[in-house]
Amino acid sequence: MRQVYLDNNATTAVAPEVVDAMLPYFTELYGNPSSVHRLGTKPAAKIREARKKVAEFFGCDEEEIVFTSCGSESDNLAVLGVLQSHPDKKHIVTTSVEHPAVLNVVNNMKRLGYNVTVIGVDGSGRIDFEELGGCLREDTALVSIMYANNETGVIFPMKEIAEIVKGARDGNIILHVDAVQAVGKVPLDFSRLPFDLVAVSGHKFHAPKGIGALFQRRGVACAPAFLGGSQERGRRPGTENVPGIVGLAKACELAGRNMEYYGTEVRRLRDKFEAAVLASIPDTRVHGAGSERLPNTSNVCFRGVDGRSMLLLLDDVGISASAGSACKSGAGLPSPVLAAMGVPPEDALGSVRFSLSCATTEADVDYVIEQLPPIVRRMRSRRS
Ligand code: PLP
Repeated sequence: MRQVYLDNNATTAVAPEVVDAMLPYFTELYGNPSSVHRLGTKPAAKIREARKKVAEFFGCDEEEIVFTSCGSESDNLAVLGVLQSHPDKKHIVTTSVEHPAVLNVVNNMKRLGYNVTVIGVDGSGRIDFEELGGCLREDTALVSIMYANNETGVIFPMKEIAEIVKGARDGNIILHVDAVQAVGKVPLDFSRLPFDLVAVSGHKFHAPKGIGALFQRRGVACAPAFLGGSQERGRRPGTENVPGIVGLAKACELAGRNMEYYGTEVRRLRDKFEAAVLASIPDTRVHGAGSERLPNTSNVCFRGVDGRSMLLLLDDVGISASAGSACKSGAGLPSPVLAAMGVPPEDALGSVRFSLSCATTEADVDYVIEQLPPIVRRMRSRRS
C-alpha cells in the first residue's frame, strides 16, 4: 500500500544526510566533549563547528546559540529565564494560540503572582496590533509570541509585532518568539529581526528528536533556569548531545538549500491539495485561509465528520495526518487553537491537519486528493 506522510508539523523524517553526519558520534567519536583526550577533543571541535553553522543559518553569533533538548525546553528556558532576571516585573503577554510549551508555563506563573495578558485572535488567526500595543506596561517583563501556528500554519506578522514590542517602554520589554514551526519553512534572519530569544526544535526540520536550540541575543538578561552542570557557558546543564548537535547543524544546512523549494513547490502542492479538496468535497473550509500561512500546512474542516475517526480511515489507506496538535489528538476535545479562532466545537472536531514536507511528491498529493472524497462521503452517509 502507498504510504503518504502528511504529518510533518508533528515531526519529520530524519534526512539521510543528517543520519550520516551523526553516525560517527555514536560509534567512533563517542567521547565526552569535556574530556581532554582525543575522543573528547574531536567531538568538542565538532560542536564548535556545528555551532558556527547553526549561527550562520540564523544570522547570529555563535555565542548566541544555546543547544537544548527540544523546542519545549527552549521555550521554558526563555520564559522562566527572563522572569528570573527581572524579579520586579510581574506582567507577561502572550496569545491564545501558543503551544502548551509556552501557555502552560505562563499560566503556571499566575499562581506565583504574575499577571498574564492573553491576546485573542480573529477568525483568520490574526492578532490585533492595537490590543498588543495597548497592553504593554511598565512592569511587562516579556512578550512571548509564536512565529507560525503549528495547527493552522498561520504566520503572525512578526516584523510589525517586533516593532510594537521593541518600540514600547524604551525598548525594555523582552520579545521571545517560538519559531519551532517556522524554521526550515520560511527564512529567518536574526540579524534583521529584532527578536531577543527564539525557540527552535530539530525534529520539525529533519534533525532527530531530542535536540533543539535557543537563540539568546547578546546582552539579553535571561538567567539559566536549570542549575547543575556548566555546559553551554552555564546557560544549560547536561553533557552535550553531540550526535544531535551535529545533526541539527546538518539539518540547518539542508534547510538553507531547501528554503526556496518550500516557498515555491511545497506551496504549489499544498495549494493544489486545498483547491482540489474544496472543489470536490462540499461543506469544507480551510482554517486561516485568509492569512499568510506556512507553505506546507493545511487545516481542513470537513463539516459533519469526526476528525479522529477520519484519521483512522486515512491511516487504513496509508495516509498519515493529524487532528489538532499531536499532543491533543486522542484527547477528544476540540483544539484550543481552533476554539480561540471562534470555530464551533463540532467544526473543530471535524478538522484535520495535513502538513507536507520537501519530500512530499505530486503523486502523494494526487493520491490523497483521490482517497479523501469517498472517505468523507462514507462518513457523512453513516451519520445521516
Ligand atoms: N512550539 C510549537 C509551535 C510546536 O509546534 C511544538 C511541537 O509541536 C513545540 C513548541 C515543542 O517542540 P518539541 O516537540 O521539540 O518540544
